[in-house]
Amino acid sequence: MNTSNRLAIVQTEISEVVGPQGIVGGAAAEAYLVDVRALFHGKAALIVRPRTREEVSRIVAICNRAGVAIVPQGGNTGYCGGATPDQSGSQILLNLGKMDGVVDIDASGMTMTVRAGTILKNAQTAAAEHDLLFPLSMGSEGSCQIGGCLSTNAGGLAVLRYGSARDLVLGLEVVMPDGRIWEELSVLRKDNTGYDLKQMFIGAEGTLGVITAAVVKLFARPTARHTAMFTLADIAAAGRLLQLSQALAGEAISAFEYISATSMALVTEHTGLRAPTSGSGPRSGKGGSAHVLVELSGIGNDEGLAEVVTQIYEQGTAKRILTGGVIASSEQQRLDLWALRESIPDAEKQAGGSIKHDISVPLKCMAAFVLMGGMAVTKGSARAKISVFGHLGDGNLHYNVMTPTDTDLAQFRNDCEAEISSAIHNLAVALAGSFSAEHGIGQLKRDLLGAHKGALTLELMRKIKDSIDPTGIMNPGKVL
Ligand SMILES: Cc1cc2nc3c(=O)[nH]c(=O)nc-3n(C[C@H](O)[C@H](O)[C@H](O)COP(=O)(O)OP(=O)(O)OC[C@H]3O[C@@H](n4cnc5c(N)ncnc54)[C@H](O)[C@@H]3O)c2cc1C
Repeated sequence: MNTSNRLAIVQTEISEVVGPQGIVGGAAAEAYLVDVRALFHGKAALIVRPRTREEVSRIVAICNRAGVAIVPQGGNTGYCGGATPDQSGSQILLNLGKMDGVVDIDASGMTMTVRAGTILKNAQTAAAEHDLLFPLSMGSEGSCQIGGCLSTNAGGLAVLRYGSARDLVLGLEVVMPDGRIWEELSVLRKDNTGYDLKQMFIGAEGTLGVITAAVVKLFARPTARHTAMFTLADIAAAGRLLQLSQALAGEAISAFEYISATSMALVTEHTGLRAPTSGSGPRSGKGGSAHVLVELSGIGNDEGLAEVVTQIYEQGTAKRILTGGVIASSEQQRLDLWALRESIPDAEKQAGGSIKHDISVPLKCMAAFVLMGGMAVTKGSARAKISVFGHLGDGNLHYNVMTPTDTDLAQFRNDCEAEISSAIHNLAVALAGSFSAEHGIGQLKRDLLGAHKGALTLELMRKIKDSIDPTGIMNPGKVL
């Protein structure tokens, strides 16, 4: 049977499984076929939105029998093109958006069983309604889905305290590449019974199966939150501030986000937001400073935490780490400080876009990375500014090289990306870091995986892929 006949049969069989309301066509299809950064545009033989795990199972079994590839898709907010099909028009795009909803919250066991298509924000809200916290949090939380977050092992804003997606999962349900349902929706915190198979699917970016549900950990909801935006000279001072904050606040630090002077200038120029210049707390720094957003949270003892933030400011100033700062004195001020941090990607976009990097290095190498990275970028493009920001407390920085104002992003990428990005990625790896700290591999960083991972690591990954997905139908062309 030729390919088009085979595809036609698969399309018909899948349409029978989900009915017309489970198929996306016409103008609506476009949004599913391009990634959030518009780096990848694909075509699909069919875009299908199943409602149940049984439907997913039947769809995957149909594709497996026919040898037709499947691209799982959650909220389509991933930064590496993992959820975009290729150009062949022969892949089935399986969007999980209709499989949403929290199945169960066990308030005493502090667990939540949730379907894969649930928007992250909705999962957070459901936990909050039980006075509990689901701590995974990031700028895309209004769109990204639990299944996508687990498949990318998403990090975000609270990793320092609660870990990344991988650390938050107790149980998982996956439709395997042959259509069978692997149901291990365990709520156990202790279960040493052989290999921890769920971890294999977390961070696999849809290459080993389709996640359909998960059991995640919940935490006590903080009753007190204190947020400050400190100003300081540079990243070296930020490293010292982290050390000081950890010494004074320990586990209470729930966010530690770096904003370089360039990133802050982009935000104030392009979003209408203003850098902190006053507040109830200490004086603010002058323009042109780097900033760190520090958030402490805890249960009970509100005054104790407030005192610790002030101590961080006072000792940071005395030790000449800080040049100023603002401590939020109301919920609105707290949100305003967060808005500055969260508007950076949008401000970069409005400023013409950037060549993005998502690196991590050991904390002690962070300042060296920024210094040497700056020199490498200047070699590639003397005019480019660098917007550095991100989850410094986790050793993770977004290191984005801005398009110079007299050119456009496509031209800039064409002229400089290869040289600049290879220098930045090589530098991160040379400093014992990673070329992809939290955004995964997808199709964007496949070559880097091959270049930077050891031969044995790649061999083991390939063996796992081949044994679980022998027909190679799960998201081919991604990761490996
Ligand atoms: C403004 C913004 C801020 C962001 N901030 C952060 C951040 O702080 N930290 C961070 O880590 N990321 C961040 N991201 C990236 C992105 O939001 C995360 O990677 C998120 O986890 C992707 O979820 P998604 O549902 O959109 O997945 P998608 O983009 O749809 O898919 C991502 C990958 O997972 C696979 N996949 C999706 N669902 C499933 C499933 N059910 N089963 C199997 N495979 C599946 C896809 O095939 C693809 O390979 C940000 C993105 C944006 C746009």
